[in-house]
Amino acid sequence: MTDYKSPKPKILVSACLMGKPVRYDGNYAHKELDLLTKLQKDGRIVLLCPETAAGLPIPRPAAEIKKGQVVTSGGQDMTGIFITGAQKTLQLCQTQGIKLAILKENSPSCGSKFIYDGSFSGTKIEGSGKVTDLLRAHGIRVFSEEDLAEALEFL
Ligand code: SF4
Repeated sequence: MTDYKSPKPKILVSACLMGKPVRYDGNYAHKELDLLTKLQKDGRIVLLCPETAAGLPIPRPAAEIKKGQVVTSGGQDMTGIFITGAQKTLQLCQTQGIKLAILKENSPSCGSKFIYDGSFSGTKIEGSGKVTDLLRAHGIRVFSEEDLAEALEFL
């Protein structure tokens, strides 16, 4: 987590979107997000990976949401620890007064419009991850890295 002192409202961003190798495969999301880099220089960005914050290791098994539960391809139910990650994320937002989050699309934690369908076949469906669901339930706006312009209108 990176916390810069700034009087301006802060934005929560998925750590993997800004070069942190925290994904299940030990990688990060290769995105050119110049706007976020600028906001980071302005001290507006708080980075967090909810899954590693909950104690999951890097690397870790891929997980997808199936019938509301988070499961690995081997059938292990990971829902509890993903909910823990969501709760830690909400707590961070509430502590820092964060009302806007930009989270990585398609993730079972961070997805906001699309997630994988639970078949581990690469098929995406409309849906959202556990972090997004909890943040939205508490009035925090969540957008993906694919909707940056829309997100920044909200600022
Ligand atoms: S939980 Fe979110 S921040 Fe962490 S690797 Fe997955 S998409 Fe990135």
